[in-house]
Amino acid sequence: MARLILLPGKERSVRRRHPWLFAGSVGRLEGRARPGDTVEVLADDFTLLGRAAYSPASQIRARMWSFDPEESIDDAFFKRRIAQAVARRQSLPALRVQQGLRLIHAESDGLPGVIADRYGDTVVIQLTSAGADKWRRAIVAALIQATGCARIIERSDSEVRGLEGLEPVSGWVHGEAPAGPVVLEEHGIRLAIDVAGGHKTGFYLDQRENRRLLGELSAGKSVLNAFCYSGGFSLQALAGGARHVLSIDSSGPALAQAQANLALNPHLPAECAEWQEADVFQALRELRREGRQFDLIVLDPPKFAPSAAHAARAARAYKDINLLGFRLLNPGGLLMSYSCSGGIGLELFQKIVAGAALDAGRDARIVQRLQGSADHPVGLAYPEGEYLKGLLVQVD
Ligand code: SAH
Repeated sequence: MARLILLPGKERSVRRRHPWLFAGSVGRLEGRARPGDTVEVLADDFTLLGRAAYSPASQIRARMWSFDPEESIDDAFFKRRIAQAVARRQSLPALRVQQGLRLIHAESDGLPGVIADRYGDTVVIQLTSAGADKWRRAIVAALIQATGCARIIERSDSEVRGLEGLEPVSGWVHGEAPAGPVVLEEHGIRLAIDVAGGHKTGFYLDQRENRRLLGELSAGKSVLNAFCYSGGFSLQALAGGARHVLSIDSSGPALAQAQANLALNPHLPAECAEWQEADVFQALRELRREGRQFDLIVLDPPKFAPSAAHAARAARAYKDINLLGFRLLNPGGLLMSYSCSGGIGLELFQKIVAGAALDAGRDARIVQRLQGSADHPVGLAYPEGEYLKGLLVQVD
């Protein structure tokens, strides 16, 4: 096995159990390793620190599989880690009852580059690192064993694979495509999940608890759901008794899915739902010109800043939509505003929202901080795992 020898002092982050080894930390590679191969990681005094997946194309040159010098990386390793990740969810009562669940949350579950979401008996995997890609077969086998799922589809079509020198890959890796759509029930709402063609793994499970909260806040309110995707927030608002829900997204297929989801729930008042295919930045301005106001606004935009390098431009985009959101709120109204950008930390996000309120001339206060659901845990040694942050803000 090839050995990756770190520069002096660069073992410190590994000792704190941070899983990434940046190119600038690596002194040299002894021996030969292809992308995704397992390498031994050594401090410059040759202390063995653990084993990692090597990725020569990426700035993250290696991702630690294990910090235990005794642990080898083989099929049994993936069986253990995946069984642990599944058991972790089973141990939390609120998660045990969910049909839709993130089973593996990459680095935070000790499996860098591995995502697995479960929708009933269908599992969707996404492998985003060279190491994860290499161990596909072992990962799939371990998931089948740990979950007993009927089928697994791979959706490794995320752009981040390019950074690892990997091509997009998707398709069924276990079982066959189901006869009908994959349907998930979330807080009493039925949602069809397009596992083969939807965004990411088909659905945004990380917002599950926040969708419930929106439902609880919606009674009698006029709601605006910007960046609505397949309508998860919109349907919870309708179920919660919203007077009217306007949902906006720029994706026609996402809106079609959202309307199909509404039809799956005939108990909801479809006449209270309004759908608009538009760019949110323009649509919010137009709503302002029309003089429309709302009691409750959700802003859940896509990742404007995948990394810190994009932070400045992303900050302007967040400021813009939040400012427009504040202007569209009735007195006493609530803004539920999110960022899922790894490159924008909580502190910066709060500053941006504060600046937006100020420029909109609205006095406002945070009534609740919001985060991803518990099946998207954040490794304490891996703060980068905390990508989703939200604020519930009330204006005067
Ligand atoms: N809140 C959703 C997830 C939102 S994902 C849920 O709970 O499921 C972000 C959405 O923003 C995607 O559906 C994408 O199509 C949409 N989007 C991206 N850029 C946009 C823009 N400029 N205007 C409108 N929608 C946009």
